[in-house]
Amino acid sequence: ATPLAIAAGIRDAARRGIVIVSDAVFEDAADIDTVVLDKTGTLTDGEMRLLDTVAEGASAGAVRRRAAAVERASVHPIAEAIVDGVDGVGEGGESGEGESDGSGVAAADGGTTIGGDGEAPSTGNETAREPSIAEVSVTDRGVSGTVDGDEVVVGHPSLFDGDEWAVSDRLRAAGEAARDDGNVPVYVGWGGAVRGVLVVGDEVRDGWEAVVSDLAAGGRRVVVLTGDSPAAAGRFEAHPDIDEVFAEVPPEAKAETVRRLAATERVAMVGDGSNDAPALAAADLGVSIASGTDLAADAADAVLLEDRLPAIPELFAVTRGTNRRLK
Ligand code: ADP
Ligand code: MG
Repeated sequence: ATPLAIAAGIRDAARRGIVIVSDAVFEDAADIDTVVLDKTGTLTDGEMRLLDTVAEGASAGAVRRRAAAVERASVHPIAEAIVDGVDGVGEGGESGEGESDGSGVAAADGGTTIGGDGEAPSTGNETAREPSIAEVSVTDRGVSGTVDGDEVVVGHPSLFDGDEWAVSDRLRAAGEAARDDGNVPVYVGWGGAVRGVLVVGDEVRDGWEAVVSDLAAGGRRVVVLTGDSPAAAGRFEAHPDIDEVFAEVPPEAKAETVRRLAATERVAMVGDGSNDAPALAAADLGVSIASGTDLAADAADAVLLEDRLPAIPELFAVTRGTNRRLK
């Protein structure tokens, strides 16, 4: 065995923005049968934007302001989109009507209220003063916290499945429409009712189709894993080289899905985000994408520094070259 070949491989990888965390990568990458790709932040750029707000039983402004108040505690891309959208910075908030949350000026209701039935609801605090927030907790599927005395829950619709929550048909329909468009509906509720749906979306990364085909051309099965709905993953399902899409996999079940696959095949998992770390660790080869958190990097065997998808097939090419030299 020649450490020189390994050193050369590490250098080749580094040139492509790939950090080899463990030497075992060279061995592990050699006989991967299945590459599991996380959706959000991996196949998509993870640059979520707040696209729309649908409110009921509260104003769109109140829904956005209260959601942002608790999302400030989260580093999830969806949380950042909501906070930025409400603050009116970044690309968020399509409504260039100068939302003024936090500006001290009375907030316009803001946002688009699709299906607008003209109701001007008045629940919640309509003024733009800073809400008072307490005891925010962040989970894998959302956040919750006390805002101006109400326990506000923000996140995946499944958080609101219980009997304690009322969801109007109109809001449910808005959520489903968002999914059908490939976007993520985020429910916002307090006082026993869902009061709004925030529509959040991001874009697929350049060249993802070719990367999938490259991976498949190497004889590997390509699988997509996402917490989002089958509809949101529909464009991936349609790619001829994608074998299988696992949708609506709750974050805590991703590692289990990888483990199940790894029982019969050699599995590489490519992911990002704080909640992908256990899945990366469960794979035979864990690859994290740069925008991932430190935690994800810790669990990974290789890290893609630039969020460039072609680095994934390049990693396999580099390791193949190194293995050839080692023989
Ligand atoms: P993916 O599997 O596509 O990478 P994640 O596992 O990161 O997505 O998150 C799964 C789902 O949980 C998201 O699509 C979203 O519905 C919900 N979610 C997680 N964190 C938050 C948050 N801070 N705010 C709102 N929704 C959240
Ligand atoms: Mg993710």
